[in-house]
Amino acid sequence: MNIDKLTLPVALLRGMVALPHNEITFDAGRKETIAAVDRAMQSDKMIFLTSQKNPEKSEISGAVYEKIGVVGTVSQSMKLPGGVERVVVSCKYRGKIVSAKDDGYMSAEIDPIYDEYNDNDLMTAALVRELKNKYQTYFSINTRLTADSYMKLLMIENPSVLADKIAFLVPFNPGIKQHVLETSDIDSRLKFLISSLVTETELLNLQLRIEKEVKTQIDKNQREYFLREQLKVIEKELGDKDGSTGEMAEYRNKIAQLNLQDDISAKLNKEVDRLGKIGYSSPEAGVIRTYLDTVLSLPWNKKTKGNLDIEHAAKILDHDHYGLEKVKESVLLNLAIRNFNAKGSNILCLVGPPGVGKTSIAKSIASALGRNYVRISLGGVRDEADIRGHRKTYIGAMCGQIINAVIQADSNNALILLDEIDKVASDFRGDPAAALLEVLDNEQNHAFKDHYIEVPFDLSDIMFITTANTLDTISRPLLDRMDVIEISGYTRDEKLSIGKKYLFPKNLEKTGLKGKRITITDDALLDIIDYYTREAGVRRLEKMIIKILGKVAKAFLEENRKSFKITASQISCLLGKRIYSFEAKNSTDEVGIVRGLAWTAVGGETLSVEVNVMSGTGKVELTGCLGDVMKESAVAAISFLRSSAKKYNIPSFYKNKDIHIHVSEGAVPKDGPSAGITMATAVFSALTGKKIRSDVAMTGEITLRGRVLPIEGKKEKVLAAHRAGIKTVIFPHDNLKDIDDIPQKIRDEMECIPVKAMDEVLDNAVAK
Ligand code: ADP
Repeated sequence: MNIDKLTLPVALLRGMVALPHNEITFDAGRKETIAAVDRAMQSDKMIFLTSQKNPEKSEISGAVYEKIGVVGTVSQSMKLPGGVERVVVSCKYRGKIVSAKDDGYMSAEIDPIYDEYNDNDLMTAALVRELKNKYQTYFSINTRLTADSYMKLLMIENPSVLADKIAFLVPFNPGIKQHVLETSDIDSRLKFLISSLVTETELLNLQLRIEKEVKTQIDKNQREYFLREQLKVIEKELGDKDGSTGEMAEYRNKIAQLNLQDDISAKLNKEVDRLGKIGYSSPEAGVIRTYLDTVLSLPWNKKTKGNLDIEHAAKILDHDHYGLEKVKESVLLNLAIRNFNAKGSNILCLVGPPGVGKTSIAKSIASALGRNYVRISLGGVRDEADIRGHRKTYIGAMCGQIINAVIQADSNNALILLDEIDKVASDFRGDPAAALLEVLDNEQNHAFKDHYIEVPFDLSDIMFITTANTLDTISRPLLDRMDVIEISGYTRDEKLSIGKKYLFPKNLEKTGLKGKRITITDDALLDIIDYYTREAGVRRLEKMIIKILGKVAKAFLEENRKSFKITASQISCLLGKRIYSFEAKNSTDEVGIVRGLAWTAVGGETLSVEVNVMSGTGKVELTGCLGDVMKESAVAAISFLRSSAKKYNIPSFYKNKDIHIHVSEGAVPKDGPSAGITMATAVFSALTGKKIRSDVAMTGEITLRGRVLPIEGKKEKVLAAHRAGIKTVIFPHDNLKDIDDIPQKIRDEMECIPVKAMDEVLDNAVAK
């Protein structure tokens, strides 16, 4: 058969290769392809199909295509939704594009390609047979081919048709199919196809093997899953009565190992039974598990090896803390008692302003006694459940802070610090103090019952230490159970020693600067104490030291320093502008100005009481943010002077004079009766015109009869007076007992005058 050159519309196929003697179906989406098909349909239906070499390219303009393709006739064309056309082409013979042009579709001049046969028919026949053989093998493992199509193929005797049909049917990759298309020599085409079919068969075999393996693995997993689920159901059905399997057995073992009291074990085992009955996946099971885990994590039988050696304890306490003699002594006493009766000693309550070392000495005591340490913060605790836990019936119930601390301590002879016991408040949710009472009571705490845990736990080996800022808010029964040790504020000198010997070296180590040559002078520390801190303790001092060390570390890195000496002159550079200044004593004796002493949570303060007397109508004005008690105290002072006017030669004032009393630092609220004698002295001075000594400060409550009553915070007040350069302090005679608290060095430098009545105050305060 000889066919002339033809000019045909061309359709470019993407990802597929058309082969003669087959019917190919493709979807035409590109407008040029659709136009080419339309063109064919309008004429003799003939079309040329060839493959696009770069199928990812969707525009025809950028397409690269094979020159050799197939001439065919469109047997069907059907419009699909979305502008796509499904086209069926019956492929006839091979052809080659000679030239192509764009007519709104691709139009090409096609040269037909003829099959080439060699002369040796036998050879071709053998190749055909072999191809059929190989195809048979392939067919036997490819389950997707139908027997019908197989039979039809086997009956084909024309080698070219057979080769093209097999090449089209088997899912070879487009490269192989194109090669078949381009091979016009029949023997070569058959040979190539035979070898390609062998490879394809091997590939298919391999693929089947992999599929099988994956399936077996999935089957195995599924089988295990089903078996496990079945086991669970069986356990649930049986209620796992003897608890001999899995999780329940584990719980039972743990309970048995703890050697608990019989009733406790029984109660816990009952919970395990319940767990078995309700099924593993119910939410309730989670609750029971958490409960069992919590109870079993309690240190029922765990103890640390305590150390009752008094000498050793004393050494550690001295090493960690400066001063605090009373605390240390009480601890050692406590220890001595424990040597004889482990459970017989009382609970310590450390009371004092913030930063005096209450928490940190508790930590030291723990390490001295070889006990684990845990701190519970009671600040703001209002709910009894915080201490004793919620009942299990609550959603999200938990154990209370005490049991939680015991779990954390992981030993039943730990030291637990109940911090800020004075901040415990009570409201409608119950009284936490009552729960604490039980915790701290030796008679009761051997069987402490947390609402959540439900079984009693022995707390009697635990050592409790409490801290508070003030005793005023602690309930009486609680207070009765504790040995109160007061830690008052530190003097300037004590702060200096603590800073120098403890805080500075401690923080050098903490910041990793220990090996470097860094020193701080006493003056520098005093500068920090005086101008950057105002506190009874040393917490802020420590913060400032840490801040300075941070800057020093930076200097070491940036300036490559070998050593650093921190002096007073560098402090403002390192810490910024001074934050505080303190009122030094007045330089001259004055009328109507008297120095008083106040006591606040951060230590002692001096304040000056100023009085002006003006012509008027007997009004009394009080300013300086004074509280009610202080105002009443001023009125009492004035009443006293009015009733003793004759005795003190005070001119009549209650009808024709107004008195204005002002207390310095007007923005700071102040209250309390202890400025009574100070205000009386100032008013006396203003009314009589007598000067008051500038080097005297005083504190004391006044009665209407002029008696002087005791006050609180004597030590802090004297320290504040000393700091302000005052030489003489007048104080109530009843406070004489407190004088021992004042360091000897300060007592040596000051004169402290005890007084019982106003007469003595004026005798000592009025300038001679
Ligand atoms: P509190 O519990 O009384 O508020 P902290 O125990 O928190 O005070 O003490 C603050 C810091 O001051 C801690 O670093 C502590 O070690 C230190 N400190 C307090 N008092 C002393 C002291 N006497 N000797 C050594 N360091 C002290």
